[in-house]
Amino acid sequence: MSLDPLLLEILACPCPEHAALREETLDGAPVLVCASCGLAFPVRDDIPVMLLDEAKPFPAAAGSSS
Ligand SMILES: [Zn+2]
Repeated sequence: MSLDPLLLEILACPCPEHAALREETLDGAPVLVCASCGLAFPVRDDIPVMLLDEAKPFPAAAGSSS
C-alpha cells in the first residue's frame, strides 16, 4: 500500500472518538482501521473513503481462523 503517511496523520475516524487509523488489508483490499471502534474504511484508488456507510467491522482475528 502506498498511502501518504501525512495523509494518515490527518485522517481520523468519523466516530465520536476520532481515533487514529492504521493500514490493514481486508479481503485483499486496502482498508483503514479505526483503533477505537474497529471499523474498516475502504481505500479506492489510493483515496480513503471515510464514510460510516462504507465501513465494515474489521475482524480482529483476521488470518488466524479457518
Ligand atoms: Zn472509529
